[in-house]
This record gives sequence, structure tokens and C-alpha cells, in this order.
Amino acid sequence: MPLEIVTIPCLSDNYAFLAHDAASGETALIDAPEPGPILSELNARGWTLSHVLLTHHHWDHVDGLPGILESHPAKVIGAAADAYRLPALDQQVGEGDVFEIGGEPVQVLDVSGHTIGHIAFYMPESAAVFTADSLMALGCGRLFEGTAPQMWASLSKLAALPDETIVYSGHEYTQSNAKFAITVDPDNSALQQRIIEIDDARAAGKPTVPSTLAVEKATNPFLRAADPAIQAHLGMIDADPAAVFAEIRARKDRF
Ligand code: ZN
Ligand code: FE
Repeated sequence: MPLEIVTIPCLSDNYAFLAHDAASGETALIDAPEPGPILSELNARGWTLSHVLLTHHHWDHVDGLPGILESHPAKVIGAAADAYRLPALDQQVGEGDVFEIGGEPVQVLDVSGHTIGHIAFYMPESAAVFTADSLMALGCGRLFEGTAPQMWASLSKLAALPDETIVYSGHEYTQSNAKFAITVDPDNSALQQRIIEIDDARAAGKPTVPSTLAVEKATNPFLRAADPAIQAHLGMIDADPAAVFAEIRARKDRF
């Protein structure tokens, strides 16, 4: 049975997620921006947290943790590489590690770039990957600590997951990401169509997260650095995709 996954808007534009296994009752929280909306959702569903999975150390992903653990003393899992700046961890993990939520394997992927030590959590049986500020809907996280080649390697690792994988990312930035995406990939009809859907969703007050990996691969310029049309548009035909990615990221930073 796939886990039941619930999206919880937090702060001004963050998302946290619950992944719940009905059979065992185990429930994981992915990232902890603030306690209020997360505790309300747990109360409304009658769920108790068994695990908290942290993607990276930024305040908008961890600052809610103490207020959540007060009433839900769950096991906290995060990157060994970031243990020195994350809240206290009960389990430290890194690339290739696997643990279980409700009997379902959770694979740890190192997706450094936004920060060094940023991890993603991949649940193959639920076709879900929690990417926070690495791969985002129509975007990727800003390179605060890592290099462009490092982020390109991280995004390529995520892009290699099955197309049907659902991408649960950390922020509602999609509409502003779309305004940039169309400037580097203007003739992409899948992107044009997606932008209409994004604008409709936002006008209706609906989230644009999660998305699917197939949609991201077809429309997200940060996954499309090897695409001939984008390379031609940037004057970088046959360039190394990592260099094309670096150019796209630099343009976004100036956008
Ligand atoms: Zn961040
Ligand atoms: Fe963030």
C-alpha cells in the first residue's frame, strides 16, 4: 500500500508533508517550517508522528521542530553531513542509506547544491520524492553553498528516477519560476500549456506542488540543459549540459 501523503502549506510559501501508513499508524513529517498548521493537520486526522525527516538546515525547514516534538516525540532523521547545524538528530543518514516508514523503504539521495548536505527522500513504493529546495516545480534552489556542476549532478540524479515519480518540493515559487522559464525556453509548447495551468491553479488558490517528474523533465529549464532548443536559444549548441545549467542558473539569479 502506498503511503497517504498530505501537503501542508506553512509560513508564506513553504510546504511540509505528512506521509502516513494506515496499517502500522506510522506517520512521517517531511520538514518542519512551523508547528501550527502541522499540529492542526495531525489533530484533524488523529495521527501521531513517528518520524521527522529533515532535508536541510535552513530555518524555514527546521524552526518548527521543537514545537512539534513537544506533543509528538518522533524520531528525527537528517543528514550526517549537516548534523552539526541541524537540530539534534536521532538518526544520521547519507547517500544510499535506506530506512523504513510503515514498512516502506525510504532511500536517501544526496542532492547538494542549494546547501552542501541537502538530502532528498525517495519512497519508490509510493512513487514519491521529497526534494525541498533542490528540484522545485519549474525551478531549482539557489546555489547558496554548492557549485553549478554539483547541482547539475544532483538534478540529474533526481531526473533518473521513474517518470511517474511525484515531486514534493519545498516552496510555492512556481508562478514566478514560470516567468523565468519561458524566457529560456520560449517555444516549448508543454511549458506554455503548463503556465496556463499554473496561473489557473493560483487564481483558484490551489497549490502547484506536487508535480510529476515527467512534467518537470518536459518543462523545467533546470532539467533541460541538454535540450537542443534551449542550447540554441542560449547560443550554447553542443555545450556541456553542466555549463548550460550554470548559465541558466546565473540568468535566473539576475532575473
Ligand atoms: Zn533552503
Ligand atoms: Fe526553503
